[in-house]
Amino acid sequence: MPDRSTQAAPPRAQPRGRAALRERVIGFWMRRSMRNLSPLERQALTHAQVAATRPIVSGVIGAGAMILSLTGLFEAVGLVPGIGYAWWLVELAALTVGALAAAVWLLEDWRVRLVLTLLSTVLIGVFMSVPLPGTSSQLALRTALFHLWPIALLALLARPTSILSMIAVLLGLSWWRVRLHGDPSSGSALYWLYAFTSIGFGLLLAGYKTDFAVAVFRMQARLRRQAVTDELTGLFNRVGWNQDASAAYAAAARRGHPVSLVFFDIDHFKAVNDRYGHDTGDRVLQQLGRLMKSRAGANTWCARLGGEEFVTLFVGHTPDAVEGYVQRVRREFEEGARDQQATVSAGVAHREPGEGFSQHLRRADQALYAAKQGGRNAMVVSQV
Ligand code: GH3
Ligand code: MG
Ligand code: MG
Repeated sequence: MPDRSTQAAPPRAQPRGRAALRERVIGFWMRRSMRNLSPLERQALTHAQVAATRPIVSGVIGAGAMILSLTGLFEAVGLVPGIGYAWWLVELAALTVGALAAAVWLLEDWRVRLVLTLLSTVLIGVFMSVPLPGTSSQLALRTALFHLWPIALLALLARPTSILSMIAVLLGLSWWRVRLHGDPSSGSALYWLYAFTSIGFGLLLAGYKTDFAVAVFRMQARLRRQAVTDELTGLFNRVGWNQDASAAYAAAARRGHPVSLVFFDIDHFKAVNDRYGHDTGDRVLQQLGRLMKSRAGANTWCARLGGEEFVTLFVGHTPDAVEGYVQRVRREFEEGARDQQATVSAGVAHREPGEGFSQHLRRADQALYAAKQGGRNAMVVSQV
C-alpha cells in the first residue's frame, strides 16, 4: 500500500552516506536534463526508453546483418576484394547476426540482450573490418562503413552500462585492428579516428535522445497530474478519485484491511456565496480542502468530487481514528470560517465484510444526508 495522502508529490528524501556519494558520482556525468529527476523517476524513464528503443535496436542489428550479407555476396561474385574470410563464412556470420537481432527483439532480460548486441557488434566488426593477416584490401573503406553501425546503436542505448560496454567493444576492436594492421602505410591512425568519431557522434545523439525523452516524460507526468487534480483545492478531482481511490479500495478490500469512507458537504454553502461572493466561497472551499488533506495522514485519499462535496478514503485506520479526524476537521473548519459562519456536515461509513466500493459510498452518502436532516454541522456514522 503506498504511503500517501492525495496526489501531492512526497518531499524527496536527501540521500546520505554512500547513497549520497553514489548520487553525486551519477550526477556528475549524467545529462543535465536528468539531474532533477529522482532515482525512481530515472528508473521509470530508463524503462520507458528501453521499451521504446528495443525494436529499433533489433532493427539496427538486422540492418547490420543485411549489410554484412551483401558484403559477403559482393565478395563471392568478385565485386569487392575480400579480407581473407571465405564468402560463405561471412554469410554464416550475417545469418548469426540476423538471429541475434531476432533474439534481441524477443528476449526479456536486458543483460542478455546487451550481451547479444555486443556479440553482434563484434561479429560485424570482425568480418567487415578486421582482415586476416596477410590481407588488408580496402581496409580503411570497410572500417568506415562498419563505424556507421555503432553510431546508430549508441544513439539508441539508454543504460550507462550498455553505452560504456559498447564503447569498450569498439575501442577493443580498433585496438585489435591496429595491432594486426598497424603499419602507418595502411592508414592505421584513421582507425582510431573512425572509432572516436563514431563514439562521439553516437554519444551526442544519445544525449539528445535522452533530453527529448526527459521532456516527454515530464510533460506526461504534468498532464497526468493535471488530469487527476482539482485545480482549486489541489485534492484529487473525480477522475483521480475514480482511478486511484477505487484501485486502493479494491486492493485494501482484497487484503482485508479496514476501510472507511467519509463524505463532507459544506452547510448552506449557497448562502455563503450569496452573502460574501464567489471568491470568498472559493477560499472557504480551499480551506476545507487544506484541512482535510493536512489532518488525514498516510494511506488516505482526499478528493473534491464537485461543488462543495468532498470525500476521504481511509485504509488501515481504526473507526475511532477516522471519527476523530472528522470531528477535528469539522471543528477546525468551523473556527477557521467563523467570519462566514460556514460549517460542514459529514457522513461516515466503515466497511462491512463483503461490501463493494459503490455500496459503501452509498452508505456514507446516506449518513451525510442524515447529518443534513438532523440539523447540519454534525457527523453521522452509518449503522448497518
Ligand atoms: P446544504 O447545506 O443542503 O448542502 O446546502 P448548500 O447550499 O450547501 O447546497 P447546494 O447544493 O444547494 O448548493 C451548493 C452551492 O455550491 C451552489 C453553488 O453556487 C456552489 N458552488 C459549487 N461549486 C462552486 C465553486 O467552485 N465555487 C464556489 N464559490 N461555489 C460553488
Ligand atoms: Mg452543501
Ligand atoms: Mg451539496
